[in-house]
Amino acid sequence: MTASKTILMDDFGRKHNYLRISLLEKCNLRCTYCMPADGIVLSPKASLMTADEIFAIAQTFVENGVHKIRLTGGEPLLRKDFREIVSKLSTLNTSLSITTNGILIDRHIDVLKEANIKKINLSLDTLVSSKFHSITLRNQFEKVIDNLHLLLNHDFEVKVNVVLMKGFNENEIIDFVQLTKFLPLSIRFIEFMPFAGNEWDRSKMVSQSEILLQVEETFASDEIIKLDDEKNFTARTYEIKGFQGNFGIISSITNPFCDGCNRIRLTANGKIKNCLFSNSETDLLTAFRKGESITNLISESIKNKKKVRAGMVTISEMDDPALHFDNRSMIAIGG
Ligand code: SAM
Ligand code: SF4
Repeated sequence: MTASKTILMDDFGRKHNYLRISLLEKCNLRCTYCMPADGIVLSPKASLMTADEIFAIAQTFVENGVHKIRLTGGEPLLRKDFREIVSKLSTLNTSLSITTNGILIDRHIDVLKEANIKKINLSLDTLVSSKFHSITLRNQFEKVIDNLHLLLNHDFEVKVNVVLMKGFNENEIIDFVQLTKFLPLSIRFIEFMPFAGNEWDRSKMVSQSEILLQVEETFASDEIIKLDDEKNFTARTYEIKGFQGNFGIISSITNPFCDGCNRIRLTANGKIKNCLFSNSETDLLTAFRKGESITNLISESIKNKKKVRAGMVTISEMDDPALHFDNRSMIAIGG
């Protein structure tokens, strides 16, 4: 490794080779766990990264060891210059993927193919049409389902992100697992996380152990197969014997995976966050626009990364609003 490549290594030996870039703060859904009821104050357009700036900043990361980039948002497919952004990024020596709510997939499927994007994370929290509106405040269920099938028909590798919340969709856990019987999907159950304005409360969260309990009550123990976790995993994965797909659990609250964290986030207005839960940010875009080097800023941010969840080691610390409610709303971070 050359000296310059060490800027992505933190004090705990974690190498940050996975960059998640948020393309914008806007969205065509209003998921209540993500977008505050009163909306958010959007960054002025001039302070959002342009396609060229996204490319140049991403290039610096790639030159320093990043080999995986995921585009997120807000809803990344809403960016008018999405095609330009992905076609530029696809020239970098890195894998490219996106996280999307799926609504605009049919309009962009050719762009995704051209850019050699094979992995798509699609967010879908319910399999019941009428419930879709109550969580997203929009009637787009059929569109998302159609686009999910479109992606599978075009051989994309699809992971479905399901944020679980008590009283809303914890009674659909098994329905989602059953979906993997005939579809080659990876379902990923996500523990509800606290961000500014999302009225998080630990009692609303469905935990890893509660999810596994439902699975164990439904399937025989020899049918539930624990799969090897990916390197730098976020989801602990399982499959049901004979099913085409699998499912995983992202337990950021009750069983975090910080030891192997390799992620760094770049917000749409050009700030890096070294942890989803961290209130602190480092402004790369201002320095970049002044023609200054951004590598020292990246290095400093990585060095300041805490060992666990931005310093919140125990779950009870998560209950203290002062420790995380200053953070951005998820819609403006890019999950
Ligand atoms: N709009 C795209 C989408 O929904 O897939 C990309 C952005 S969204 C912020 C990225 C992911 O963050 C989604 O899978 C969403 O479910 C997840 N997310 C948002 N708020 C969350 C929260 N409070 N807790 C857990 N996951 C959350
Ligand atoms: Fe939009 Fe995604 Fe947030 Fe839902 S989770 S409001 S789709 S950014």
